[in-house]
Amino acid sequence: MVGIGPVTQVASQLIAGRDLFLLIHIQGIACFAYIVARRLVPLVRAERDFRFDHPWVRLGRVGKYWLGQWKHPRYRTAGTLHIFIFAGFIVLAIRAFSVLIVGVSENFVMPGLSGRAGPIYDIITDYAATIVFLCMAIAVVRRLVFAPARYAVPARYGKAHTADAIFLLSLIAILMMADSLFAAAKAAAQFQGSQSVETLATFSLPWMLQKALVSASLPVLGRLYFGAYLVHELTFYFLLCYRPFGIQFHVETSLFNIYFAKLDREILKPVRWGVADEHLDQVKSFGVKTFEDFTWKHMLDFYSCADCGRCSDNCPANAVGRPLSPRFIGIKARDYTFQHYPVVGRAKNGAALIGNKDAGGIYSEDEIWSCTTCGACEEECPLLVEYIDKIVDLRRGMVDDGNVPQSLQKPLKALESRGNPYGKLEKKKADWANAKEFQQVCPVKTLGKANGAGTLYFVDSITSYDDRMQSIGRATAKILNHVGENFGILGAAERDSGHEVRRFGEETLFTALRDHNVDAIKTSGVRRIVTSDPHAYNALKHDYKDVPPVEHISQVIASEVRAGKIKFNPVENRNAVYTYHDPCYLGRHNQIYDDPRDVLDAIPGLKRVEMTRSRDRSFCCGGGGLMLFYEPKEDERMGVKRVQMAAEAGANVIVTACPFCMANIEDAIKVAGFEGKMEAIDLAELVDQQIMRDPLAPKAC
Ligand code: SF4
Ligand code: SF4
Repeated sequence: MVGIGPVTQVASQLIAGRDLFLLIHIQGIACFAYIVARRLVPLVRAERDFRFDHPWVRLGRVGKYWLGQWKHPRYRTAGTLHIFIFAGFIVLAIRAFSVLIVGVSENFVMPGLSGRAGPIYDIITDYAATIVFLCMAIAVVRRLVFAPARYAVPARYGKAHTADAIFLLSLIAILMMADSLFAAAKAAAQFQGSQSVETLATFSLPWMLQKALVSASLPVLGRLYFGAYLVHELTFYFLLCYRPFGIQFHVETSLFNIYFAKLDREILKPVRWGVADEHLDQVKSFGVKTFEDFTWKHMLDFYSCADCGRCSDNCPANAVGRPLSPRFIGIKARDYTFQHYPVVGRAKNGAALIGNKDAGGIYSEDEIWSCTTCGACEEECPLLVEYIDKIVDLRRGMVDDGNVPQSLQKPLKALESRGNPYGKLEKKKADWANAKEFQQVCPVKTLGKANGAGTLYFVDSITSYDDRMQSIGRATAKILNHVGENFGILGAAERDSGHEVRRFGEETLFTALRDHNVDAIKTSGVRRIVTSDPHAYNALKHDYKDVPPVEHISQVIASEVRAGKIKFNPVENRNAVYTYHDPCYLGRHNQIYDDPRDVLDAIPGLKRVEMTRSRDRSFCCGGGGLMLFYEPKEDERMGVKRVQMAAEAGANVIVTACPFCMANIEDAIKVAGFEGKMEAIDLAELVDQQIMRDPLAPKAC
């Protein structure tokens, strides 16, 4: 509240500019509304996406991920800086609003802040402005001098946005300075009038400026008061209208992006929202081919990316030099939106996204096939930007156009004709279990029509047909037998789970495989499914409908260990140091991190170390399913990087719980030159090896 005398003289400067300020308000708001309306045009033309369910759950996630900044501390320095800036902005939002209104109504006080709360709020905002100002200065220095490698933009992805980032950081710093000067000039005038001076927070920016202005003349203070207000107002509206042209648009969109983020991340988006599988034949075109084939939420993702680089920093494909960096999947699409849906001018739509740049393409085929769908990018993103659905949709579009990499054509044909990517005969599917010697120690039933077994062991293709992985199948069967499980397998009636087929965009083939398996499972009459393959686990749990509950063998073992049904002999090799590699589809996609570790820790004498990248930051081994057949362009193999990480952690035995991880890691041990010094073993194999058996029980079971 402005007092009399000197303060009135200073404050009267604002009254003189009231008409000007009102004009700036009206123009600023109108301009912002127009720009946002134009930015919404592509979203209106986009494909449908159902994100309006569970409003309370969604609001809770806004509280956690937006207001609570939940993921930011995963990067300590940048995260802390961001939390301070964000908190400062939240505190200053009310102040900015009040300051803007004061220009046209000089006695305005925000409701609720006229009493005692006012001075307390003022002190908090003084500190908030100071902290945000300092954070801006640190962020500028960090960008210019100590920029983390993840900010770099490789030449093939365009130019770095450093200048833009510095410009925006500087504008925010100017806003904070203008806000503080505005408060300081008024307080200095009050001081000169021997009035009670509004309390400015000690050592805050406004407090320091007030100290510096204490002997300035009243006309100077008046001009500073007016000037600070004008700069504040112009900068505020300039920022508001400039942000939708670059990465800072996330300030406006992030709240909505988090509210509408996918609740069930493990479930792939359908080919078309609102079209049931049985009506897919009526869909004219599958997947994403042009920009307008993306859903409105995916376009909102493009606007919301803050270009922080965390996704790509954790992307294994990017780490090994594949032509994929998830950050640029988003940034390139956002730049495409800005070019094709300009704020001024007509929209130009319809260009194919994949292929020739001159024809409007922004992605290469290799880029889109390079993804292992490991989920590291989505796990890391503080704004819950989604990538897997977009990449799968782009693959669906390519598959629909018959555009499938050469190396994948044969396994896909084999899957269609034989139900497995190796082209092996169905009748050989149960050979691993039917071998005479194995049946003698561990009989495994092949389930037909409801024949009394309560549990189905769903084996899937690699464990059934690959000589090395059959050992995982046998170990799993022996463990189930040991705990007295009445189980069987489907044998020739089991087709590939189709997990990778779906993620490679072959939705029709996936539907056929799934329907066949669902029929076979229902016919068997089982009430529970167990699998040793995380990809099959993920498919059965999330891609299939109407099948009994599914468990991964690591969950079964962990619960039997806790129940005391499984006990272990001590580890004999005292030099063995174990580390557990989290398979992506067990860990990140299904949050099964503790069960396998609990099992390992229950084995007496087992020394276990953690790799730096573990649990939800696990590093993909190179991918499962059809990734084994794909020949990507890369500088080195993901598996090689992974075994190097294990060696750095001091381990010489890598335990995993996935046959695909086993294939990649065993191969990588050889390539990395660790043969004879390091080994890989599946959790089921290790448990089978260490299990304490009753000496009177039939051999090995
Ligand atoms: S899912 Fe994995 S491989 Fe694919 S873009 Fe994300 S981090 Fe990279
Ligand atoms: S998608 Fe998320 S993690 Fe990746 S750059 Fe954008 S904001 Fe950062």
